[in-house]
Amino acid sequence: MKEIKRKCQGCLKIQNRDLMIKITKLNNGLLKINPSSKELGRSIYVCKNIDCIKNLIKKKKLISALKCSNMDEILKIEEQLKKMLPL
Ligand SMILES: [Zn+2]
Repeated sequence: MKEIKRKCQGCLKIQNRDLMIKITKLNNGLLKINPSSKELGRSIYVCKNIDCIKNLIKKKKLISALKCSNMDEILKIEEQLKKMLPL
């Protein structure tokens, strides 16, 4: 079976999709982490790794790569990403 690979927006490396978190801007404009396959929209990926997630937030990739300007949604997703990580 072929591995699906995606680029991490934190470290910019290509990784196995199974090891990554997917963030999608749904067609209604809201952001969602790891949406179901029925929920479509522009998506980015990030490694399940504190440094990559910090980088993603620092570089404001949710705004630039997802073209999201809704700051409430950006902050909500940043909080959710931080909670997914063991400290
Ligand atoms: Zn990464």
